[in-house]
Amino acid sequence: MNWRMRAVVTCEGCGFRQEVARDIPEPTSFHLICHRCEQSLMVTVTQADIRTAQAMLRPRAPIS
Ligand SMILES: [Zn+2]
Repeated sequence: MNWRMRAVVTCEGCGFRQEVARDIPEPTSFHLICHRCEQSLMVTVTQADIRTAQAMLRPRAPIS
């Protein structure tokens, strides 16, 4: 299965909210560089996060 999970990460340093979309097949953690202050942020994705993301990927009518 190949799909993209979207997560919103709030920077601890400057409070900047940034959205990331990447392939996350299983619980993991990764580093993200804040686009505003360039601080390194630790992002943790749990099984619950993945389940929530998958639930939002149910087929729906294309937006026209
Ligand atoms: Zn920042």
